[in-house]
Amino acid sequence: MKGIVFDIRRYAVHDGPGIRTTVFLKGCPLRCFWCHNPESQTSAIGTINKRRTLDGSVEWLASTVGKEMTADEVMREIIRDRLYFEESKGGVTFSGGEPLMQHGFLLEMLQQCHEEGINTAVDTSGFATSEVFSKVAATTDLLLFDIKSIDDQCHYETTGQSNHVILKNLVSLDVPGLRLIIRIPLIPGVNDGLKSLTETINFLKTIRQPVERVDFLPFHRLGQHKYEALGLQPSPKLPNQQATTNTREALSLFSAAGFRVKEGG
Ligand code: SF4
Repeated sequence: MKGIVFDIRRYAVHDGPGIRTTVFLKGCPLRCFWCHNPESQTSAIGTINKRRTLDGSVEWLASTVGKEMTADEVMREIIRDRLYFEESKGGVTFSGGEPLMQHGFLLEMLQQCHEEGINTAVDTSGFATSEVFSKVAATTDLLLFDIKSIDDQCHYETTGQSNHVILKNLVSLDVPGLRLIIRIPLIPGVNDGLKSLTETINFLKTIRQPVERVDFLPFHRLGQHKYEALGLQPSPKLPNQQATTNTREALSLFSAAGFRVKEGG
């Protein structure tokens, strides 16, 4: 099966345990206004204009975003790093965009990784049908599950989609042996307030799948230049200020509620 890959990065240390190769699949149903990879959002292969300064003059060069690859071609790239995986207890992480959007392609690669004895992680927003979500959850070793906002109205206003499907998928998750790490990007004015964090804790206490850890991803403005390069305007909602509850406070709050926590992925 073929799919559209927008990047493959080696030696990643923030996308799961050990040293990992991260495969980014193109396409995402969400439009988070803080997205660092807006070039990953559309499903089709596209172009981005890259700025280059040469002899004092600026020029823009069109660069292709996305490449059609077969699962076997991606696997050949992954297997090249096997030695690093074995030495560091690492593996491969499928990210995006939203990797569940290309679920057939993703499932084929997950299956092949398991046949090769390579550890797998899937970094997902959880926005998928329950059928797709449960198939992927049953096929990977680790889920990195992002919670962007526990408040549905806020989620809709900041990502363009309701969180109903996402939270329902998380509530119904019950896969023996599956490792689950929750990832929360702390976005000022969106999900960093005490009320939002407390409601997230209360929600996480209701789910069946054991939560191994909660990772907080601090807000930064990296990637904003890409909006210009894509001919898009960065969101006017993009905050200048620091988080209202800083990462340290969020860590303490979740830790006091009994969760293992970590700053960064
Ligand atoms: S889910 Fe991730 S890739 Fe999709 S829009 Fe949000 S931040 Fe960007």
